Amino acid sequence: MTFVQAEIISVGTELLLGQIVNSNAQFLAEEFAALGINLYFQTTVGDNKERIQQALRIAATRADLIVLTGGLGPTEDDLTKEALADFLQLPLEIHPEELQKLQCLFQQKNLPWTPNNAKQAAFLPGAAILKNHHGTAPGMALRHGKKGYLVLPGPPSELKEMYVHYALPWIKAEFPEEVKARLYSKVLKFTGITESALEEVLADFFREQKAITLGLYAKPGEIQLRISAKAESNAAFQTKIAGLLDRIKERTVGFLFGEDRQDMKEVVAGLLLQRKLTVGSAESCTGGMLAAQFTDIPGSSAYFLGSVVAYDNRVKADLLGVPSPMLAEFGAVSPQVARAMAEGVRKRLGSDLGIGITGIAGPEGGTAEKPVGLVYIALAGPEGTCCQQCFFTGNRDGIRRRSVLRAQYMLWRYLNNYTNEDAQTDTPD
Ligand code: ATP
Repeated sequence: MTFVQAEIISVGTELLLGQIVNSNAQFLAEEFAALGINLYFQTTVGDNKERIQQALRIAATRADLIVLTGGLGPTEDDLTKEALADFLQLPLEIHPEELQKLQCLFQQKNLPWTPNNAKQAAFLPGAAILKNHHGTAPGMALRHGKKGYLVLPGPPSELKEMYVHYALPWIKAEFPEEVKARLYSKVLKFTGITESALEEVLADFFREQKAITLGLYAKPGEIQLRISAKAESNAAFQTKIAGLLDRIKERTVGFLFGEDRQDMKEVVAGLLLQRKLTVGSAESCTGGMLAAQFTDIPGSSAYFLGSVVAYDNRVKADLLGVPSPMLAEFGAVSPQVARAMAEGVRKRLGSDLGIGITGIAGPEGGTAEKPVGLVYIALAGPEGTCCQQCFFTGNRDGIRRRSVLRAQYMLWRYLNNYTNEDAQTDTPD
């Protein structure tokens, strides 16, 4: 299987000055990846004919498909087509039909026609003209020897529309063998393990793989592993990665919780339904965020009974039955209180499982003994209660989110019959 090597040359001084972000290159890069086109280089160059030609000279030594974006407009500094014409030693010719269309467009829009606009109707001989439904400057696609050149406008809405409707079909027609295969990806989602530890666990897979690419990506509370390969169909891709996937799964039991679009709250919901178990939560520092996650899923009333937002100690005592002497002796943020909250909500709601969360989300309220980020999360069930002491970093929102994720993770481990580490065993009730 052969692949097209593409290179993007983004033209625009404002890109070099940092005034705009190169979203066109990002869009095209994603499109090429999906199409199985290899993109090894991107160049950004200012509105300068000599430098655009320099970029073209280099690109032509290493790419089959060269895509220029920007600089198609009517003004003096729009030089992309001129630079390409000089580079290929071809003349730019005005197309009378295109010129007429352009003049009509100006009339329709009631815009004054100035002669410099004519250059937007100039193209290289043999080039396909790519229509621009969102702007005035058409694009151009040209086969020159073995190489393909695409010239696309700068404004992102114009570029996208032109790419999808005209440039993409042109690429497929010009490089039919090469773009047969496209890039497929599968995402595995892990939690309860750090990115570096996961990389260590999978180190030999990272080293071994040639035709399959592995990439780790850390999100708050979750690590994603993207497995990508080029294949002619999704079925061929699945077959290609099947062996590796099995080996990865074997090694990551207890951490791998989902695939592709699945997220933790959906996975937990599925497991609760499957196990026919109900749950309730007692939340202090998270203020109902865990309950909101449960109720995000339609049909959650089948397993989620409710939540007590027990912010004040009186609520912890009155509604959850946390003993007042316990609150006085250990403080609201303590493993004892987290456990009592989990057990209390389980008892009061009559659920199979109860979750208690109490912690210091900050920014104020921390002490040397109990710093901001200290959170206790307890899970009570028929077999007993376990509690984890967590030290989360980040701002208030981050600490609260991580607390919810950890509670979900503990629940997920329980529902999969994995033990919860750091759990202090408790007496079964
Ligand atoms: P026009 O016909 O509007 O002059 P053009 O093809 O000449 O279009 P440029 O003049 O280079 O394009 O750019 C027009 C505008 O498009 C820029 O001011 C900028 O807002 C946007 N633009 C250009 N290049 C990019 C890019 N690579 N990524 C994001 N936006 C871009």
